Amino acid sequence: MYYGFDVGGTKIEFGAFNEKLERLATERVPTPGDDYTKLVDTLAGLVDKYDAKFETKGKVGLGLPGMEDAEDATVLTVNVPAAKGKPLRADLESRIGRTVKIENDANCFALSEAWDEQLKDEPCVMGLILGTGFGGGIIHDGKAYSGRNHVAGEVGHTRLPIDAWFHLGDNAPLLDCGCGKKGCLDSYLSGRGFELLYAHYFGEQKKAIDIITAYTQGDAQATVHVERFMELLAICFANIFTAYDPDVVALGGGLSNFELIYEEMPKRVPKYLLSVAKCPKIIKAKHGDSGGVRGAAFLNIQ
Ligand SMILES: [Zn+2]
Repeated sequence: MYYGFDVGGTKIEFGAFNEKLERLATERVPTPGDDYTKLVDTLAGLVDKYDAKFETKGKVGLGLPGMEDAEDATVLTVNVPAAKGKPLRADLESRIGRTVKIENDANCFALSEAWDEQLKDEPCVMGLILGTGFGGGIIHDGKAYSGRNHVAGEVGHTRLPIDAWFHLGDNAPLLDCGCGKKGCLDSYLSGRGFELLYAHYFGEQKKAIDIITAYTQGDAQATVHVERFMELLAICFANIFTAYDPDVVALGGGLSNFELIYEEMPKRVPKYLLSVAKCPKIIKAKHGDSGGVRGAAFLNIQ
């Protein structure tokens, strides 16, 4: 049995999977605000509960919005205050008496897609999330590659390529990022970025979904915006694809529901790639919101 936890800012989702990777149990509980003891108790309590229910000792994987410090294995996270700076893996391991795998939630999302029946023979699968933020994970031969500092795939905190700067023109906005830098892709390619760019160029706050609806109705302003955004996305994707050269790219997050992306990227990306490179297959993530839990559970079979 494989247990996965997706620890988010407001809720913790638990999932139990059998050897055939079928989901047998799901439970959602609130994330304890900043109470670390309660966080460890909550996670350990769910493990105990499902161990008893399935009369087994499940293998535990944990995904969270952050990563472990490469030196001392404390958790680096902004969104889960209770875990911030704490040796969560070690403490949970000693509580439940088994090893625990821990991974960034974007890597778990990518892992979940890579282990999908249709993709599991693909050598390199990249997951990119166009959600509140922009992030990603890279899976080689079914295994998450997180790098020395566990930041591999953190493409949201690479900066705008020079082509993007030329494309955005004289009035290009230099947006602040939550990481403290300026010009991170996170602020441009996320759903939030989609709205920020619209507000910057048209002086109007509009929700992404409303901009897309206006676009489908032929609204002139929305058309200009979508055209500019698609080219920006293609430029940034091409840079990422040149660095990682994935076979398949699965897109998740709210903006990944914008079907036009799947039509436009294959047409727009190639001109920014090396001439020998082909654009990878770009698909919509199949496991959506449950990807984090699935990927966390699969950390123990990768
Ligand atoms: Zn950043």
